[in-house]
Amino acid sequence: MDASLKSDLYRKLPSVDELLHDSNLAALITRDGQVAVTEAIRAVLLRVREEISRDRLDSDGVDLAISGVAGAVERYLRRALSYSLRPVINATGVILHTNLGRAPIADAAFDHIREVAAGYSNLEFDVAGGERGRRDVHVDRLFRQLLNDARVAAGLRPAGTEQSAVSTPADSSETGVSTIVVNNNAAAVLLALNTLAEGGEVIVSRGELVEIGGSFRIPEVMRKSGAHLREVGTTNRTRVSDYEEAICDRTRLLLRVHRSNFQITGFTEQPRIEELAALARRRNLPLVEDLGSGSLYDLAAVGISGEPGVLDSLRAGVDVVTYSGDKLLGGPQAGMLSGRSDLIARMRSNSLFRALRVDKLAYAALEATLLAYAKQDYGSIPALRMMRLSKEEIGERAEALADKIRSARLTVEVIDGESVIGGGAAPSAVLPTRLLALACVGHSADELANKLRQADPPVIARVEEGRVLLDLRTVFPEEDAAVEQVCASL
Ligand SMILES: *Cc1c(COP(=O)(O)O)cnc(C)c1O
Repeated sequence: MDASLKSDLYRKLPSVDELLHDSNLAALITRDGQVAVTEAIRAVLLRVREEISRDRLDSDGVDLAISGVAGAVERYLRRALSYSLRPVINATGVILHTNLGRAPIADAAFDHIREVAAGYSNLEFDVAGGERGRRDVHVDRLFRQLLNDARVAAGLRPAGTEQSAVSTPADSSETGVSTIVVNNNAAAVLLALNTLAEGGEVIVSRGELVEIGGSFRIPEVMRKSGAHLREVGTTNRTRVSDYEEAICDRTRLLLRVHRSNFQITGFTEQPRIEELAALARRRNLPLVEDLGSGSLYDLAAVGISGEPGVLDSLRAGVDVVTYSGDKLLGGPQAGMLSGRSDLIARMRSNSLFRALRVDKLAYAALEATLLAYAKQDYGSIPALRMMRLSKEEIGERAEALADKIRSARLTVEVIDGESVIGGGAAPSAVLPTRLLALACVGHSADELANKLRQADPPVIARVEEGRVLLDLRTVFPEEDAAVEQVCASL
């Protein structure tokens, strides 16, 4: 198209200012504000200009585009001003799905966040004394209550002594199990290593130099902490004697890392945690364990064995345990350091602690979650509730849903399957479940899963062996109706 014709087309376009005074857009300005509407008008006009410059619009086309500007601006605003972070329905059966936000928080946690964070609170204020307080007291008291018997059982030793702490005064803040909270478990490990081992050596088994989710690698966290990694043993076999031989005057601590997301099977050997604790005690070194998931709930109750809980580790004599808030604990994102009070006190006074600390929202959610544990109200914590659902309960819901969504195009079968805990907990532990297996005429399984994802709300499913599988274990019962609607619209 010749240049003068093109410039005629450009000239036809209204200016931003003219459009701002267009009566069709006035209501949008009232609703979304002048700045946002101006931005939207600019973007829409720019798109039309680009079309003209690429010779995609003739004179009639430009007239049509102009008549559609108000609608285009409205659509642009709807997209630009909607949330990017939004709910999805997790039908994968992976309870702690890192990409889907890990543990859903309890209603009580949400209520407590609203009550505490929407106004002022005593976050760092001692109301009784009228003085400045500490933000960690609110949850430390609950952790003490939940972890207290571990101290007695393990005889956690006070600083620099070989003696059992059982004879020391109970529950003074200098003894027993203390807990501090940081941003996540990666931060907890960083803080522990930096506080206890900066400039010195940390002994770790080669078989435990794990990477979790791509960005958390023990050797890298170690470097950032200023501690030096001393690897012992081989990938599949490490003995207590390997640790013992590596201990020297530069050694600051022994580190055990839970192999969260993989298993080593076959010809393997790993010292029991009690043996490591005994060695640490003998050589007067702290033993730190990165538990990863760190359950406060006895997983044996849902048939999962071999996944150590926080209490198990403390009872076995670990000095400091680190674990996540949004994995098996079922709370907000956070990282806990629980253990010997003298060591925890050192971490609290490390300036890194200030940089890694959590906000009032996390404390509020954590406090409410811990209160549920204190009351043994496990049903109120969504992750635990999902874990405790029986295959039969899930099967009944699945059958009911299958009857509603089955159609000429959509074949639906209810079959046996397995749910996964996820989040780096119990890598091999699965829970028996019942799955909805879907197939749609004219669509591959991947296409069907894609359509489910594009729905509103998005439904995230698993694809296995050419079938789309929905596991209702991780779908809240109140979401069943939404899943039904989405499936009906396929
Ligand atoms: C998950 C995990 C981490 C990281 O925890 P975040 O809370 O995600 O920072 C570290 N170590 C182990 C063993 C884990 O399983």
